[in-house]
Amino acid sequence: MATATLTKFRNEPYADFSQPANRQAMEAALQKVRSEFGREYQLRIAGDWISTGDKLSSVNPSNPREVVGIHHKATAELARRAVESAWAFFPQWAATPAAERVHLLLEASRILRARKMEFDAWLVYEAGKTWPEAEADVSEAIDFCEYYAREMDRLSGPQPVVQLPGERDEMVYIPLGVGIVIPPWNFPLAILVGMTAASLVTGNTAIIKPSSETPTIAAKFAEVLLDAGFPERSFTLLTGSGSAVGDVLVQHPKTRYVSFTGSRDVGLRINELAAKPQPGQVWIKRVIAEMGGKDAIIVDGDADIDKAVEGVLFSAFGYQGQKCSACSRAIVDAKVYDQFLDKLTARAKVLKVGPSDDPGNYMGPVISEGARRNILQYIETGKKEGRLVAGGEPASEAGYFVPPTIIADVEAKARIFQEEIFGPVLAVTKARDFEHALDLANDSQYGLTGAVFSNNPEHLRQAKERFHVGNLYLNRKCTGAMVGAHPFGGFNMSGTDSKAGGPDYLLLFLQAKSVAAKV
Ligand code: NAP
Repeated sequence: MATATLTKFRNEPYADFSQPANRQAMEAALQKVRSEFGREYQLRIAGDWISTGDKLSSVNPSNPREVVGIHHKATAELARRAVESAWAFFPQWAATPAAERVHLLLEASRILRARKMEFDAWLVYEAGKTWPEAEADVSEAIDFCEYYAREMDRLSGPQPVVQLPGERDEMVYIPLGVGIVIPPWNFPLAILVGMTAASLVTGNTAIIKPSSETPTIAAKFAEVLLDAGFPERSFTLLTGSGSAVGDVLVQHPKTRYVSFTGSRDVGLRINELAAKPQPGQVWIKRVIAEMGGKDAIIVDGDADIDKAVEGVLFSAFGYQGQKCSACSRAIVDAKVYDQFLDKLTARAKVLKVGPSDDPGNYMGPVISEGARRNILQYIETGKKEGRLVAGGEPASEAGYFVPPTIIADVEAKARIFQEEIFGPVLAVTKARDFEHALDLANDSQYGLTGAVFSNNPEHLRQAKERFHVGNLYLNRKCTGAMVGAHPFGGFNMSGTDSKAGGPDYLLLFLQAKSVAAKV
């Protein structure tokens, strides 16, 4: 039933940190969050606090000696208990009027907004986000709550169907059951909130398995849900290693769906395990999987080079290239290749890299020592596959820093052209002409985002038709999808194209029931 008071959806505005008041508020939030470093977080299942004694510590990637939070890890047994508990509560939650669930989600959004800079600060310290990147993440989380609340309002109640003579025909959407929500660390709030909000507002009960890199941010959001009034048993935050509890959650016969965002390999494994019915299971599990990317920006021969340089720079090195939408391939028309590369290299060389709580830094650390090692190995490979023109050398600070790195003259068969690196490493490739550039851009197993800088309307038209990505951007960066405006999800090995933040998304968490009554 439509909630009369809902206003039209608007994206949450970003705080402008050049304003002294915002700067001071952020400094205070950073201090407050620091004072909570090292706190221990127990598990809570069905309202019971549980200590397993097996703990994981999450650290500040800018300074790994600092422990941000200590979390008790779930066991396989606790994972099973969480699913059973969620299943037992499902009928009650599903029967809660949609208007009430919508109201609770809007309340969660209100609390997030009130605690926005505090959440920004957690993202700075646990995920290594710079201030603006953290602010964008928290704003997106608020957007998901606001958008999905309105979407549920639209989808609740009878849907329009044709009325046959002599019948009363109806179709309503009902929830699915127990959902497993598995987010990545790179949007540790926005993606976790988006998948959780979609699950709960549609009337499903959810088990949230946060990334082991960012469990404190997840624990803070669980507090928000409880403060907003979501019932204890409508969700469980099940911290623990994906390899230890992931399979149990995915394979449990009472699991109805899995909403996953993360790497290709884990997504494919979940898809495979979920496909096999377990004894006692009476449904086909749904898998919503959003996975990796190897995103390209094409720079056409007549493009505005300065705009293209800025677009590529931000897309490749914002949040250290750790976005599924990050540009990791610049494909440049031979006519402007040298000019573009010179300008881009000059800009990259002066980007400041350092601790993410210092607002003077453009780039912070990568998420972990393992990630840094992996990225540095790819850079070594890249040096053999192309010409290193910027970065390459690891910084010597204590944090997990990697400089913005550009490798030119990379061929399509190169590993650094084909494989997702998930760090600040950009391959630059020369194209003979626009046609060739499109062929190179599509030469990938992935198909998430892409962009084209061009002043040629015919080339832009061709890109719309042929550039095979879920999110295409023309004459702008390829990151920064906005809820409502840019429904997000990729093709091919980038996932199931769920289009998060769009009008089709909640249907993935619902099933339609059609009722025809003879009158
Ligand atoms: P990941 O290693 O695949 O982990 C994602 C989540 O899966 C984590 O919570 C992880 O838990 C869990 N997990 C690991 N093994 C599991 C298993 N066997 N069963 C169930 N869950 C398991 O990915 P990530 O490193 O966190 O994130 C980076 C990746 O996400 C990149 O590939 C990026 O492109 C992709 N991504 C895609 C999108 C999109 O919308 N397409 C958005 C953001 C990120 P643990 O941390 O405990 O291992």
